[in-house]
Amino acid sequence: MTTFLKEEKEPTWQQLLEEGKNCLLDAGVADAELDAWYLLEAAFPIDRVHFLIDKNRPVNGQILSKSGPVYQEYLEKRAARIPIQHILGNQEFMGLEFTVNENVLIPRQDTEKLVETVLKEHPGRDISILDMCTGSGCIAVSLAVLGSYEKITAADISRAALKVAKKNARRHFLVQKGTVRSESTLLSEMPWKLKMSTYVYSSDSSEGERQSASGEGTKAAVRAREPGIAAVPGVRKRELFLVESDLFSSLDQSDKYDIIVSNPPYIPSSVIDGLEPEVKDHEPRLALDGSGDGLYFYRRLAWQSGAYLKKDGMIYFEIGYDQAAAVWQLLDTAGFCDIEIIKDEPGLDRVVKARWNR
Ligand code: GLN
Repeated sequence: MTTFLKEEKEPTWQQLLEEGKNCLLDAGVADAELDAWYLLEAAFPIDRVHFLIDKNRPVNGQILSKSGPVYQEYLEKRAARIPIQHILGNQEFMGLEFTVNENVLIPRQDTEKLVETVLKEHPGRDISILDMCTGSGCIAVSLAVLGSYEKITAADISRAALKVAKKNARRHFLVQKGTVRSESTLLSEMPWKLKMSTYVYSSDSSEGERQSASGEGTKAAVRAREPGIAAVPGVRKRELFLVESDLFSSLDQSDKYDIIVSNPPYIPSSVIDGLEPEVKDHEPRLALDGSGDGLYFYRRLAWQSGAYLKKDGMIYFEIGYDQAAAVWQLLDTAGFCDIEIIKDEPGLDRVVKARWNR
């Protein structure tokens, strides 16, 4: 355990970092030094540049007595193998900071492949997307913000997860660049359904262009024309729905989507107990466990998705590196066509896409 608070002499910044690193190494943490740095940076008023300049100077006593106990608490938590993201409350995904807690899967870099593929293959904005098993909302919110798609629906069985997704949507969707107005409306308590709308100004309203410019002139035009806000040139209405649903159970079959994306739980139950303590003890099993063979949700999604897709609608699912053949088979049997497997940066099978041409 750490001793820096008990020493007579103040430690230097470098010693603080070393002590943190050793404490985490002893606990078997893989990236001990990096994690110690993040915790130090979060606990103390120090950034990388100042650390490098001052690392051999003793830490000021007042700063140490204020921030030292915080650093110590963070280190103890991390040594107990609590994920660093739970300690700091954040994980970056697609360049955006997402709030996380023990009720959601921590966004993984692997999943960026799914979002990037959809963004690349669907430059047109006027489409509706369903994100099934949204968890923290990282897929839905990054598609909504970076893709500026007309309508995104994010569904999850866990209300606790949806509360996190709501925070993230507030953080990024309701206040994105070019927002001229935004609002949220609770549509239903049971099942929980929330609608968020933003009116986003885009200097170039032609298809395929990313939104840009904050549009001061437009804001004035919007104020002048209320309530006909959507009629103002360059202003587009964007909607994000959060829905409590056991897969499709709370969705309306008359609502058809252009795209369904999902990163469902896909780890075989027996594999979970062999994972790192950060994952098996601190991330929600509900978000990881794909039942006996890991394919439970792909089976249900394969059979049910078609009914919610427009003709030629697409699905994009994240898969485990060894699940491509099995998921391909499921989708083929369920009637999907043009099935393709997309690899991630390390070269592993990561995303399956397919078309529903009925
Ligand atoms: N990719 C995650 C992991 O390896 C699992 C994600 C999931 O089950 N959807 O921990």
